[in-house]
Amino acid sequence: MSDVTSESFENVVCSFCGCLCDDIIVEVAADGDRVSRVRKACANGRGLFTHYDPAPRRPTVDGREVDWEGAIAEAARILNEADSPLIYGLSSTATEAQRKAVELADRLGAMVDTTSSVCHGPTGLAMQAVGEPTCTLGEVRNRADLLVFWGCNPAVSHVRHFARYSVTPKGMLTPRGRRDRTVVVVDVRPTRSTKMADLFLQVRPGADFEVLTALRALVGGREMDVGAVGGVPVAQLQDLAERMKGCRFGVAFMGMGLTQTRGRDLNVSELFTLVAELNQHTRFSVIPMRGHGNVAGADQVLTWQSGYPFAVSYARGYPRYGPGEFSTVDVLARGEADAALIIASDPVAHFPRAAARELERISTIVMDPMPTLTGEVARVVLPTACYGVDAPGTVYRMDGVPLRLRPVLPLARPTDEDVLERLVECARHQNGVSEWRRLRQSD
Ligand code: SF4
Repeated sequence: MSDVTSESFENVVCSFCGCLCDDIIVEVAADGDRVSRVRKACANGRGLFTHYDPAPRRPTVDGREVDWEGAIAEAARILNEADSPLIYGLSSTATEAQRKAVELADRLGAMVDTTSSVCHGPTGLAMQAVGEPTCTLGEVRNRADLLVFWGCNPAVSHVRHFARYSVTPKGMLTPRGRRDRTVVVVDVRPTRSTKMADLFLQVRPGADFEVLTALRALVGGREMDVGAVGGVPVAQLQDLAERMKGCRFGVAFMGMGLTQTRGRDLNVSELFTLVAELNQHTRFSVIPMRGHGNVAGADQVLTWQSGYPFAVSYARGYPRYGPGEFSTVDVLARGEADAALIIASDPVAHFPRAAARELERISTIVMDPMPTLTGEVARVVLPTACYGVDAPGTVYRMDGVPLRLRPVLPLARPTDEDVLERLVECARHQNGVSEWRRLRQSD
């Protein structure tokens, strides 16, 4: 039973995943210092609001609690003295903080990279190579009668996607909801999402590129003289090609089953090209299933400020793009960074061992509302506010639509933007070389 004295907030945005559901109802206890109930959100979304303790926490330096000024001064000292600093993460913070992080990288002559480099980085490369014929989730909901989920499992990763945007909602041209749509899942094994599918194509692991190329050929009207491609019978591919050409409005959703398997950006380029070619027959779009709440915003901000979506180095005083060269896993594995600022991300929990251990060896600074494994190995830990719970900010949904986060709790901690602003002030620069380092070199 709900607390009758609590305050209720409606249409709150959940910033946990790229769906950014904006219909959440959040109840705050009468004392105003904790979320007492969350309605409409999935378990991940509920956790975002209920697991966060908004009480002020003191930062730490080498495990000892210090005041904020002392912690920021130490973080600034580490970054300014580093010869090759790295800024990484950014996918679960607001665009206001992302802008400051890029400005800081510019001033420090640092590398700056986002979690895109370990998820949809290849999607960015494909977008640059062949373009991305895309649409919004609102168009999907109202118009799409054929949905293809390729190498993704939204039933687990984006729990409300099917219900809010794609499979079951009733839209303007899909008034009967699920009954007005055909759902196709393409993956290397059955998943929870395949249970929702009318058609499941099981691809041999690593053969997505071949299957996509075969589909392009069939859509283009070419005959195939083999029985199967990539483990999929040609008759099944022919059936899918006909459905794609014959639908009113089709949408392909793609995930890390394409971006992080053999072929990577070439897989995605092939899918984007297939979707573009389908527009000679009908209307078809593609939307990458972006994972973290504002990873799409991180791509946007880095692109509008540096010209590139991830893996950027300012070491020469101007932005250079280097996927594989300036992407964080590679930089750390080669031992090329001597300090790291990790913002709203937990690379120690997710990176390969060699890269994760490097974060223990170098001076690492963590800025995060929650305790993380990376925080446990960091020299400086800055427990900032949580955007969308106690701090306002802007985030980008997976389809590139920006949404405003309204806080439901009073702000009692500095935000990522506040701390980054202070670090920018401390990082005086000259032509990409920090004033701190220039003075040190002239000693
Ligand atoms: Fe939040 Fe994503 Fe769940 Fe929606 S689907 S409530 S955005 S975690």
